[in-house]
Amino acid sequence: MRNILEVQDVKKYFPLKTSVFSFMNRGKKYYKKALDGVSLHIPEGRVSILVGESGSGKTTLARIILRAIDPDSGSIIFNGSDITRKTGKELRNFRKQAQMIHQDPYSSLDPLMKVFDIIKEPIDIFYKDYSNEERIKKILAVLDDVNLKPSAVFAEKYPHMLSGGERQRVAIARSLVIEPKLIIADEPVSMLDVSIRGQILQIVKQLSVTRKITVFYITHDLTTSRDIGDEISVMYAGKIVESGSIDRVLSNPLHPYTQALLDAISEPKFENIDKEKVIRIKNFDSAPAESGCKFFNRCPYSMEICKKEPQLESKEQNHNVSCFLYDKE
Ligand code: SF4
Repeated sequence: MRNILEVQDVKKYFPLKTSVFSFMNRGKKYYKKALDGVSLHIPEGRVSILVGESGSGKTTLARIILRAIDPDSGSIIFNGSDITRKTGKELRNFRKQAQMIHQDPYSSLDPLMKVFDIIKEPIDIFYKDYSNEERIKKILAVLDDVNLKPSAVFAEKYPHMLSGGERQRVAIARSLVIEPKLIIADEPVSMLDVSIRGQILQIVKQLSVTRKITVFYITHDLTTSRDIGDEISVMYAGKIVESGSIDRVLSNPLHPYTQALLDAISEPKFENIDKEKVIRIKNFDSAPAESGCKFFNRCPYSMEICKKEPQLESKEQNHNVSCFLYDKE
């Protein structure tokens, strides 16, 4: 299967504000390692999930992929071309093909614009040569696709006249209208009522099939992952600790962090998971280890060797893990 996107050893460290520690250490600078050597690939036409807790680096990775911020090192390969340092026309061309759906449908839409104008905006930027008729046709078609019907009625509404779920559908329509190849959806249902999350996810899944769009879905929530995902990468403290097909990873979780994430779920759809594979982590609040395995401080299985850094390695077909537990096999 062809990869539409490859993230290669991306690092991003943010300097921390000057603290008492830096004074004590003669001005030494301290950094938050938001991404500490992340590599992953996203197969074309599939829904790939990135799951991890808040602060694990997920949104930083999304912003780097979309070139909102630059990485300190590493590369982003899109459709076989390195876009990490592209500028001008080449960057604009990439942005036409990669769109984002944000977490908050309340702040991501301009309250003073009608739905029609909100969706027209990206066409005005990227397809200036479209006629008015073409614009209207595209806008109404995309509103139909996200089930905002009758589309002509919804096109005339303002965001305050819509429910949270309807606003998120408008945000999805705005991303889709310029026919991107890749959509990055950053926690797109986390601020919506539980009762409508499933509908929005099904729209995203369906559109990935009908419009042949690759979706990179970022979430802290494994339950929604299983509803739409084909592949999954599990991130902890700026590192991918486990990845592979979603069925393999969720039915046979190998990394203690993935096992702990599953422990937090009481959904019936996860009932077939082997309970022996689910663990309670220790020291829930402890910070990631500065060196070696970042999960060391929380891991109930930590060993002396875990003071070294484990690498992400294949353990079965389409299933990789970064943990010394499996080196003994
Ligand atoms: Fe735990 Fe060691 Fe595996 Fe890290 S490498 S998750 S500390 S067993």
